[in-house]
Amino acid sequence: MLGHNSLLVGYHQLWMAQTPWGDLPVNDAHVHFFSYKFYSTLARQKKLESAESIGPLLNWEIPPPDSVPLAQSWAAELDRHGVNRAALIASVHGDEESVAAAVAASPDRFFGFFMIDPLQPDALEHVRSAAVNPYLHCMCLFPAMHTYSIADRRLVPMLEIASDHRLAVFVHCGAISVGVRKKLGLVSQFDMRFSNPLDIHPVALHFPQIRFIVPHFGAGFLREALMLADLCPNVWLDTSSSNRWIIYENLDLRAVFRRSIDVIGEARLLFGTDSSFFPRGWNSEIFKQQITALYELGLSKEQAEQILCLNLERVFKPNVGPAQSGTKTSE
Ligand SMILES: [Zn+2]
Repeated sequence: MLGHNSLLVGYHQLWMAQTPWGDLPVNDAHVHFFSYKFYSTLARQKKLESAESIGPLLNWEIPPPDSVPLAQSWAAELDRHGVNRAALIASVHGDEESVAAAVAASPDRFFGFFMIDPLQPDALEHVRSAAVNPYLHCMCLFPAMHTYSIADRRLVPMLEIASDHRLAVFVHCGAISVGVRKKLGLVSQFDMRFSNPLDIHPVALHFPQIRFIVPHFGAGFLREALMLADLCPNVWLDTSSSNRWIIYENLDLRAVFRRSIDVIGEARLLFGTDSSFFPRGWNSEIFKQQITALYELGLSKEQAEQILCLNLERVFKPNVGPAQSGTKTSE
């Protein structure tokens, strides 16, 4: 899928993936970067000696302490599937350096996202240093996982930094389960009372410069996520994961896309897969399900290109103009 599957536009190579509309550039807004530090944290919680000892329990590959080989594995996965760029999410508090090193190794293939637990005493320090790191683009908050409200005043200094430094802010809402923790039998003391997208409403109004991303269409709070995005033009929804939450509603993926596009249009939907571990790598099955649903809905190639690629570029480069099929580069 190399060569014929990429285009040179200007000075930049634009990777293209096969879709029912023909070849299109695809950016993935949601890929977890399961670094050595991520596995080390799990190992500590599991009372194991090292990150490596987690591997056999999961049948997953544990990367080396240096992030670059894992970044190279992800870049090779993107090449193999013709994916242009992916947001890599550091998935444990304090791991932003792993993702920053990965993005620095391939800055035209990745965006850098990092998890912060704002209740940790060093949270503000981490946000401060991340905000001035050119390889980090988005702060990720998981209120139900870390048991706080997104509207808690203690978050204001961190959100001010995000606003001043043009960091996007990802806020996980809705149903939350962390597959790897379940597989390891680790107890997760999450609190779903902190998972309502409506909690973001006053925050998004207070910080109009921040671009907020709510993953998985609100993961069970579709109506609330759409209300929020309807009222706040600085809110985007990501489409990632199997969207298993659909079982709570009398909906299918097509209907979820239809309702979302009807309410907020296609310009604020960000395609994502929620890919995470190796050897599975990039989850092309999720991609196939979503492009099939969008094609069956009758979306034009231009609309599809916005969701699959251009909108993520616009979140980070607000000056990128309206969609012009096939002519945009990633820089
Ligand atoms: Zn995820």
